Amino acid sequence: MPNATPSHSKPAVEPSVAGTAGGEHAHAHHHDDASPLSPAAVEAALELADAYCSERGERLTPIRRKVFGLLLASNRATKAYTLLDEMRKVHAGSAPPTVYRALDFLLEMGLVHKIESINAFAACHDVTHCRHGLLVVCQHCGKIAEFHDDAIERALAESIARVGYAIAGDAAEIKGVCAACQARAAANGEAPTR
Ligand SMILES: [Zn+2]
Ligand SMILES: [Zn+2]
Repeated sequence: MPNATPSHSKPAVEPSVAGTAGGEHAHAHHHDDASPLSPAAVEAALELADAYCSERGERLTPIRRKVFGLLLASNRATKAYTLLDEMRKVHAGSAPPTVYRALDFLLEMGLVHKIESINAFAACHDVTHCRHGLLVVCQHCGKIAEFHDDAIERALAESIARVGYAIAGDAAEIKGVCAACQARAAANGEAPTR
């Protein structure tokens, strides 16, 4: 399998979707909004992804499209077996390899993030502009914020280089607890999560 990540290439398509209702586009996405995307927003993002794949000589097949659509619609990190369950609602015979192959493709295209800390997958915040940033992942509900901070990213890369390493993944993943989950924990009288 080719190891090319599309992270550095910018497509010609304009970033008209990404699911956020205007504003805040340059930095934090999925801000306080982990509500499911509207079908129209999902459809628009799928069209962008479709064009993005075609430009690279790849195809967003119906299965890949469906899996990506589910991730877009959920708007948070989702486990592979949850995706499989959803797939089975539309294609009764869906088998795990089908879903995993689709996820592999989407990862390779940079459309999807693998979220290691909770072993799940999430649609990238801005579909086709994949220069992945720093990800903050709610460990309770899978909600994700992705942001770009050149100073932090540069400092991180330098520190890593100083100890003789190169970064192998495309995004730094930080474990977090989102505002909604913090509020819920507080309401339940639980101790604040570290
Ligand atoms: Zn990303
Ligand atoms: Zn949360």
